[in-house]
Amino acid sequence: MGLLAAGCQTNPVTGEKELRLIPESQEIAMGVQNAPEFEKEFEGKVPNDAVQQYVSAVGQKVAAHADRKMPYEFAVLQSEVPNAFALPGGKIYITAGLLSRMSKERQLAGVLGHEIVHVSAGHSVQSLQNQIGASVVVEIAQRAAGQYGSAVGTATKFVAGMANLKYSRDDEYEADHYGIVYMARAGYNPWGMPELLQVLLDMSDSEPGRWAEMMQTHPLTSKRIEKAREFVQSEYSQFSASEADPQAGEFMKMRNILVETLKKSPSK
Ligand SMILES: [Zn+2]
Repeated sequence: MGLLAAGCQTNPVTGEKELRLIPESQEIAMGVQNAPEFEKEFEGKVPNDAVQQYVSAVGQKVAAHADRKMPYEFAVLQSEVPNAFALPGGKIYITAGLLSRMSKERQLAGVLGHEIVHVSAGHSVQSLQNQIGASVVVEIAQRAAGQYGSAVGTATKFVAGMANLKYSRDDEYEADHYGIVYMARAGYNPWGMPELLQVLLDMSDSEPGRWAEMMQTHPLTSKRIEKAREFVQSEYSQFSASEADPQAGEFMKMRNILVETLKKSPSK
């Protein structure tokens, strides 16, 4: 089937040649089609516009500097398990569990930058192919784009694949690296990235159960933090780790609204 239409293309992020099985229009359709089911899996969106708009504004600011232009969208899901996800096509999610553990806007810019790279460099599609099989993903994408048959019945496979997706260590390094580049281009202090990784690593002691769940999708090692620190140090020496985040006050205001909203949410 669609495998015959596969093409060799240049990765917009790394500049390397690679094989792409799924055309961009199908990639976008696949994300749009399956997003509602995926959101349900993580308890739906946080029902507060101020929180959603804050995260969306930070995400769009960083996404404006991505190497692949996609219809990026950002939303906060109610799940308390700390995590972030990038669906093929550009829909990006952060859970309330992760957002509520951060203290600065630059940390949020870091995590969203990381997820933007997963989309921009095609990691999301590639990892989904590894997780559930290339031919299954091609079928889901073609059905989502209305190329043949209906899309009925494919959402379960897509959601299961995305929820259990595991990025390779190389993808994680790449996402940290270019995430730093994008957030710095957007004007954020790139120390937000290693800071965020440290917050996550600290959870391995304080909350080993939650930590294990998160690690299934985005493997994190002390080596990853080290590499991020080294990169920021060598390329962005004009920034300092001890510099205060000018948006920290705004961030904490949003975080308080998030916590209050979760307390009142009927699904909690
Ligand atoms: Zn990742």
